[in-house]
Order: sequence, then structure tokens, then C-alpha cells
Amino acid sequence: MARYDSNVPLSNPSSTEATPARALSFEDARRLVERHAGQVSPGKPESLDLLAAAGRVLAEEIRADRDFPPFDRATRDGYAVRAADVTALPTRLEVVGEIKAGDLPECLTMNRGQAVSIMTGATMPAGADAVVMVEYTSAQEVGAREVLDSEIGVSEKAQPSAPVASHSNVATGTTLGWGSRIVEVRHGVSAGENFVPRGAEARVGQVLLGRGRRLDFAGIAIAASVGKDRVQVFRKPRVAVLSTGDELVEIGASPEAGQIRNSNSYSLAAQIQPAGGEPVLLVVAPDEPRRLRALIEEGLQCDLLLLTGGVSMGKYDLVEQVLTELSAEFYFTGAAIQPGRPVVFGACAAGVVGHPSGGDTADTRTGVSAPLKTYFFGLPGNPVSTMVTFELFARPMIEALAGMRPLPLIFLRARLKSEIKTKTGLKRFLPAILSGEFENAEVELARWQGSGDIATLARANCYVVIPPDRERIEAGDWVPLLLR
Ligand code: AMP
Ligand code: MG
Repeated sequence: MARYDSNVPLSNPSSTEATPARALSFEDARRLVERHAGQVSPGKPESLDLLAAAGRVLAEEIRADRDFPPFDRATRDGYAVRAADVTALPTRLEVVGEIKAGDLPECLTMNRGQAVSIMTGATMPAGADAVVMVEYTSAQEVGAREVLDSEIGVSEKAQPSAPVASHSNVATGTTLGWGSRIVEVRHGVSAGENFVPRGAEARVGQVLLGRGRRLDFAGIAIAASVGKDRVQVFRKPRVAVLSTGDELVEIGASPEAGQIRNSNSYSLAAQIQPAGGEPVLLVVAPDEPRRLRALIEEGLQCDLLLLTGGVSMGKYDLVEQVLTELSAEFYFTGAAIQPGRPVVFGACAAGVVGHPSGGDTADTRTGVSAPLKTYFFGLPGNPVSTMVTFELFARPMIEALAGMRPLPLIFLRARLKSEIKTKTGLKRFLPAILSGEFENAEVELARWQGSGDIATLARANCYVVIPPDRERIEAGDWVPLLLR
């Protein structure tokens, strides 16, 4: 079998007719998965209540049903003013009314020398072009008429448009006596400050969420804002999980000496769900070709098959052999990474082993150019390798089958707490602990016992990524990391 240190296509020893197998760099392997993922089609759409659709992938566009905001919306509690009236400070303005969130927009107009008490979320009155924050004002309950007469002069005095002296609040129907109030303003504002003009966030008809967009909480907020109580989402892809190994027992069993419980099926199921898939756990396959083949055939009925174990060099690592018997195409049979070097990616033509998805998604998955096939990943059995290779390779395929454009891997950077020495040749994703706050964040490798060490992985919160050509990274250097 081809191993990590070769980019040259090699023949698969299991069969002379099999697709040539090859080992790739991490980047080439990831690109290859993304290329295949770009060719798959999601399942049929279904209609769900908005909240049931959280985390699902939109099969429709969501458009603004009106302008956002639908009116000039105040973003502060304070006084709606004309910016030109608050240039010489402090100044006093006649308060001609109050508008709170929910009041109808046509309820008030204000003129020169006037202000309107306004609340966050309320509609700006006609005539105002800014809001002065309440913190920069003092309301004064005095004989306003006299004060204003003396300060701004009778000829320039506000000519309030009705209703002013006794403003009728349209929304509540209460009558407010505003004629006797003035406000002192201590800070100026520029025109446009502290309100968002109608339509500034989005125009009616504008696409707010595209097809293929995951409905996270922000997406849910948008769908709710435009009144979508039901949304069209893609059916989740069914992802078969087949753990292999004679040593494995189910989690309810008491393992004999030499046996271990099957944890990979469960960790994978827990990774498949947030990636947008529906895990289908098969029974554990023994390291015996006939039974293994029957279970692989069962798994290939789903939209994607994830195998764990049985892809290394050992005598009983039979996964590639059995897949070869099923005329699998192998796109790679190793990646230059640690952990997870023996990872395998390929596909089986659907006709060979029956129809994926029981025909449910067959019509939407039939591409004109791409023949119907079911992809599989053979993930190494060591639990940390299984988890890492899932994130690096299987996740984008599940996202694509779920109807999303696969998300790129996001690498952050942090300073290394203590020196790392390693061997060259593999890109390493080593469990690490990111700690410290803000600009003092530092990352340190977790001391681990290798890729079987789930206890250490559970303590880690990220992977430090070490390029294949680095032998030594000094304390204090910036290193890329992948959160987990
Ligand atoms: P393999 O890839 O089959 O050579 O397995 C590598 C290591 O991972 C061995 O120590 C296995 O016992 C362990 N392993 C394989 N499959 C699982 C599983 N499903 N759950 C937990 N450990 C596993
Ligand atoms: Mg095994």
C-alpha cells in the first residue's frame, strides 16, 4: 500500500486491476476532497418549522420582505434634533413630543429650535436628522415658553406643526402636555448620527440568506425578521459509520482482557451531527473479509460511508482489500500527516453495490456528467487519528452533501509557550492547550501518549499545526493552530 512519503501513483497490492493508490500531501489531499465535494448534490428539500430548522441548510433564498430597517430607526435614547440647531453649546430646545419604539412614524413633525424625546428603536420624527444621547442633555420642567422666547427670539421661535402643545400619541392614544418642557443640550451631533436610515441595512427584495447557507442563530434571526415561520431546508445526508476490529466490543459490554470498547463510532456520530449529517451506526465489523464486505455494502447504501480501523499496514487491515473487491476507486490512500497518515478516500459506483439512500435522493443526486457513486473515507482506528482525519477530510464532504459550500479550515495563530522538536516529513496536528487571555494567549503541546490517547485529547482545546519541513519551533514563535 502506498504510504505518506510518496506522491507517485502506486499499484494497490490487493488487486492488479484496482485503481492506482497514492499518498498525498495534506494540502493536495484536502483539495482533492474539496473538488469531489464540489460535485455532489444535496438531498431533496423539506419544509420545517423555523426552530426545527436551526443548524440545517437552506434550500431556498431568504429575502427582505421590506426595507431594513423599515423606518429611520433611532439607535439611542435621547432627543431627536436638527444637527444645525446644536452647534453653539450648550443650547436649549423646545421639546414638542415623545416617540417610543412602536409609535407610528407619521405621528410627529418637528421644526427648527425643537426636539423630540426619542427612545431606542423608535421612528425618527420628520424634520430631525440626528439624535443627541440623553446623557448629554438635561430636561427642564419650566415655563418653557418664556425661556425660549427670550433665548431664541420671537421671530425665530419654533413654529410647531400640530400636534405640539398637546401632542396626541397615536400609538397609545394618551395625550401628553409637551408645551411646557425644554431640553438643554450640552454636546453637538452631526447629521445622521445615532439613527439608521430606512433601508440602510437591506432593501426590500434583497437576498439576506442564500441557498446553501447554514441556519445558525444569526440566520434564524433573519428568517424570523422577514416572517418565515417555516423554511425549506435540505434533508440531512445519512452517514454510515462502520468501526472495524476484532478487539472491539460494544460500549454496554464488559471487555475481556485484550478487548476495548468501540468509542470511534460514537465520537464520529458526535462529529457528524454538527457537520450537518445524520449518523447511521452499523454494528462493529470483525477483521474477516466476508462479514466486513457485507457491512461495507450495507454502509454504501447511505450517502457517505465512514470506516474506522483496518487501513494500516497490518496483516488484518482488510478495509482497502475489501473495497478493492467492490471495484472502489481510491483517490488517495495516505496523507503526509500525523496523526492520521493511513487515511483513505475513495468511492464505489452505486450500481456495484445497490443504490445509495434507498433511492430517496437519487433523482437530485444524479448529475449529468458525474455518475452516481457513494464516497467513503477509511479513517485510521486510533481514536485521535479518527477525530483529526474526520475534521480534515470527512467534514467538508458531509457539508457538501448537506447542501453547503464546505467551510474552509480556519487557522488561528498564537505564541508557543515552550519549544517543540519534531521530525520532518509530515504535517502535524498535535493536541495542544491554548490558555491566557487576549494578547497574552499562549499555546502549549499537550503531553500525549500518541494517537490512541483520548484522555489527553479531551483536555486539549486545539491542535498546533507544524509544517512538514520544521524540525524545531522556538518558544515565543507564532504557530498556526486549529481550534477543536
Ligand atoms: P487499526 O487502525 O485498526 O490498526 O487500529 C488502531 C488502534 O485503534 C488500535 O489500538 C485499535 O484497537 C484502536 N481502535 C480501532 N478501532 C477503534 C474503535 N472503534 N474504538 C476505539 N479504538 C479503536
Ligand atoms: Mg484494526
